[in-house]
Formats: sequence, structure tokens, C-alpha cells
Amino acid sequence: MNGRIELLRLHNELCDKIDRDYQKLIKSTTSLQEISNQITKHLTDYSQEKDNLLSFYQVNRLAGKVNIEKLLEEVSSREQKISFLSKQSKKTKTDKQSKRKNNQEEYIYCQECHREIKPKAEYWYNSSKNDGYKLCSEKCYEEYYGEYCNQCANKTLTFYRDEQNPNIITCPACYEKNQQEERERKGRLTTYCQKCSAKLPENYVLDTCDNCLDKEDAEREREREQIRSQQQQLQSDIANLEQNSSKTPQQQADLDQKKQKLKDLEDKLNELETEKDNSTDLDTQIAKLQSEIRALEKKPNRTTEEEKLLTDKRKKLAELLAKKNKKENSQSPKKPIILYVSLTVGGIILLVILATIIFRRKKK
Ligand SMILES: [Zn+2]
Ligand SMILES: [Zn+2]
Ligand SMILES: [Zn+2]
Repeated sequence: MNGRIELLRLHNELCDKIDRDYQKLIKSTTSLQEISNQITKHLTDYSQEKDNLLSFYQVNRLAGKVNIEKLLEEVSSREQKISFLSKQSKKTKTDKQSKRKNNQEEYIYCQECHREIKPKAEYWYNSSKNDGYKLCSEKCYEEYYGEYCNQCANKTLTFYRDEQNPNIITCPACYEKNQQEERERKGRLTTYCQKCSAKLPENYVLDTCDNCLDKEDAEREREREQIRSQQQQLQSDIANLEQNSSKTPQQQADLDQKKQKLKDLEDKLNELETEKDNSTDLDTQIAKLQSEIRALEKKPNRTTEEEKLLTDKRKKLAELLAKKNKKENSQSPKKPIILYVSLTVGGIILLVILATIIFRRKKK
């Protein structure tokens, strides 16, 4: 259980790191070459970190407890954001940095704000455009050469181009906002605890929350503890009764009853212990027993001992099969109900959002 939490912590740490790097990159004003070097270095780091995640997952045997594909997918989607940013920024960031000393004496003015750029003052220009225009500041440069974001209508030098519709341009801030909304939409549909219906964290493991898992563990431990103390009580009662050499028929009956009860408790304890094993273990046990039984059955002359072994094994197999059936029957009907509940909850949230939007529009 701690391995699972630790893995999630490592994963979140990596995601946060990539987010921080991304924020630094889009605000960075260093040269394009420098940015591209940084991106390459970051991507190497991330792949190392992803390997670490994967080996932690394997070493701690978290298969079936953590959806590792989903976790790695989440990391990759963030990596993509960074590598994609580099492609788009090439066009625009390249020449922004070229500050030049102005040694000429002629009168020059800013192409954007039309104010005079004093002789010997620094100005910005676009070396790849070769249009001869000069800009007084980085702000004017961005205003002049930047593209309009289709969402917030601000000018931006770094942007994302829509894959389906290249005319649509999004600034990094709006792109990030869209991604966040997309993640939330996905999260709402998938993750609710099947026991308490609490919303599970994004990219969570299993379909039961940590609280419920802990509660279940504690509950089972309490039950075992109770059985153990009942057993101790019975054992001392039985010892007392057996010391008594001349027992009344009622005492004898009492003794038999207590012995039977002790045996029942032992069975119950065994059942609780095996419940801890998961169903794959059950399947292996069944397969193993079946092959052992077949081997015994093939033997032509069985000794009485082998005959007894065969009977025992058949009995055990019947028990295991019954247990497997019980487990499957108790598990399968639950899932559709949870699906319906999540879909209904999602639907209601959507309706409320829609109603709010319509209401606000009407007000205007
Ligand atoms: Zn200007
Ligand atoms: Zn925008
Ligand atoms: Zn729960």
C-alpha cells in the first residue's frame, strides 16, 4: 500500500517539474539555440525519470494496483507540450534577441508606436524578415510581429497552431487553460470510489479510495483479533473442563459444543486469511489442484493412502470453486451501478453548467 502512494508521489513530482520547466521556457528570453538546448536536456532528464518510475513499479510489484500506462501517458502528454513549443517558437523567437547599437546619425522611429529612437539607443529588429523596421522595445516588437491569439485576442510571439485548423492560433496561457479543462473533463467521468463514491484523485489506481482500503484492512484486522481472543477463551474453558475427570452429561455436552465452536472459529480465521490473497492466486490454486487430481485418477492401483489424498483434494477443489463463484457473483453486479451513478452525476453537472450559461446570456 505504501509503495502505491510513494509511486503516485514520484509521479506527481515529475509532472510538477515538467510544468515548472514549461512555465520557465515560455517566459524565457534567451536565444532560440539556448532554449532548444534546454529542451533537449529536459527531455533526457524526463526519460531517465520515467525509467525510474517504471523500475520502482516493478521492484515494488505494483502490477494490478497502479495503472502505470495511464501515469506514463500523463507524463508524455506534458513532454509533448514542451517539444511542441520548441517547434512553434522557432519562427518567432529567433530574431527578437538581436539588440544592436545604433551608430548612425539619421532620425529613426519605432515602427509600432512611432516614437523616436534616440541615436545610440538600443532597438529591436527582425533579422529574418529583412524589412528594415526597428522597434523601440520588446513590447513593441511583440505587438508588431506577434500573432493574435484566437481565444483571448492578445498578441503573442510563442503560440500553438491548431493541428486540424492551422488558422487557429492559441497563446501559451490559453493553451494551458484548455489542457486543464480537458483533464478535468476526463477526470470527472472516470474516477469515483466504488465504496464511498468520493472523487478519486486524477490518475488514481484501483476503484477504491485509500480511506476505504485502510478501513477495510482495519476492519479485517479487528475481526481477526476478535476471533483470536474468543479462541483463547474457549481453549482455557476446554482445558478446565477436561481436567475434571468425572463429568456430568451436561458438562460433556458443553465440552463437545465448545470444541466444535473452536473448530468453526479456526475455519473462519483461515477463510479471512485466504481472503487476503487475490483471485489470481485462487485461480493458480485451482489449476494446481486439478492437475494433481488428474494425475491421481490416472493411477490404476491406488493405495488406501492415495485414495484418501484424492478424496481430500476433490473436497478442497470443490471448496475453492465455490469460493471463486461467490467472489465473482459479489463483484460483478457492482460495476455497472457505479458507471450509471458517475454518468448521472456527470450529466447533472453538465446540465447545471448549461443552465447557468443560458441564464447569464438571457440576463445580458
Ligand atoms: Zn515602440
Ligand atoms: Zn490567449
Ligand atoms: Zn472510498
